[in-house]
Parts: sequence; C-alpha cells; structure tokens
Amino acid sequence: MHPSEYKGKWKQLKTANKSIHLEIGTGKGQFIDGMAQQHPDIHFIGIEVAKSIIVSAVEKVKETQRKNITLINEDAQDLSDLFENNEVEKIYLNFSDPWPKNKHAKRRLTYHTFLEQYQRILKPNGELILKTDNKGLFEYSLVSFSQFGGILEDVSLDLHLLDDPFNVMTEYEEKFSAKGQPIYRSRIRFPR
Ligand code: SAM
Repeated sequence: MHPSEYKGKWKQLKTANKSIHLEIGTGKGQFIDGMAQQHPDIHFIGIEVAKSIIVSAVEKVKETQRKNITLINEDAQDLSDLFENNEVEKIYLNFSDPWPKNKHAKRRLTYHTFLEQYQRILKPNGELILKTDNKGLFEYSLVSFSQFGGILEDVSLDLHLLDDPFNVMTEYEEKFSAKGQPIYRSRIRFPR
C-alpha cells in the first residue's frame, strides 16, 4: 500500500487515536526511536528521502520492536499527498540539510513552500521544533518563520546548557555536541 493511501487515516493505522508526531529527515532513526520509547501514547511517523539511510532506521525499529513508529521513504516535498489538513500535532526538523547556497534556498525544509504545507497538515496551533548545529540555517529559519507569521515560542542558542532531561539526541546532535559545538533549538507555533 502506498503511504498516500493512509492520508487522513494515520490515526487508524496504529492503536486507536494516538496523536501523530512527524519527523522530517529521520536519518538512521535514533531520535524517532528514542521519542517513541519516551512517549508510547504517540504515533511517530518518520519521513526520509534516502533509501540507503532509512534502511538503518528500519533495522533499528525491528530491533527495538517499537510498535508506535511508521517510517516512510519519500520526499517531504509532497506532504500534502500524505497527510490530511489538521492531521499532525507536531513536526520535528532535526539537523536538516542547510543548503547554504542562495540558489538552493527552495530545498531548505524551512523555505516558505514547506512552511505552507506544515501549516496545512498541523492542527490549529500545532508546533514545529527545529534543532540544528548550523548557525546559517538557524538564522534563515527564524526569519522565514517570522515572515510567515509563526510565533517563536522558544529559542535556545545552546540547547545542552538547558540540561533538558527529555531531550532525545539525534545521530548528528551527538556528533556535533561531542565536538563542543552548540546546538540551536527553536519551537514555533502556526496560529490560524
Ligand atoms: N535527522 C538526522 C539527525 O539529526 O541525525 C539526520 C540529519 S541529515 C543531515 C538530514 C537528513 O534529511 C538526511 O538523511 C536526508 O536524506 C534527509 N532529507 C533531506 N531532505 C529531505 C526531504 N526533502 N524529505 C525527506 N528527507 C530529507
């Protein structure tokens, strides 16, 4: 079954009526697996475009036998084909590719065309959480959010100083913070 056939029905796929949280660019799955363990009452869906990378996430989920994870090997460009309006409660963007050249700005996952899709599929007042080590992408994203009318709920320029016991580290987060690099995080709300 193609994932688009679950559009509007994701809540029926796993044990009834769990909230849907979506991670875009799931990579090898460390974050989604840790979050799913921490929140068994939430259905986590991970989208990853690279087949060679998502296989590691699939293997991890098989190993941990986590029941509240769905992995989708697709490009997040077409999110509206996969999710109905208001179907998702939270979106996580973890260490998204920065695409530093201006001519590639459209590929950044915080470009306004992506934000339009996020706003559509998120519930009213739904939240997007962005973590990155990349200052340029972080600055760009904060401007993009505010030009879009998003409300910045929280901005941290050094997430690990907060010592948040509920923070689940991604593979990239472990790698960059081990090198002493600060991790930036922002939470934004899409009001409607
Ligand atoms: N989130 C992981 C982490 O923090 O360790 C991986 C970060 S890696 C830099 C970015 C990931 O996003 C890559 O695996 C890439 O294939 C994926 N990605 C980039 N653009 C995407 C898109 N449009 N749709 C889905 N996945 C995408």
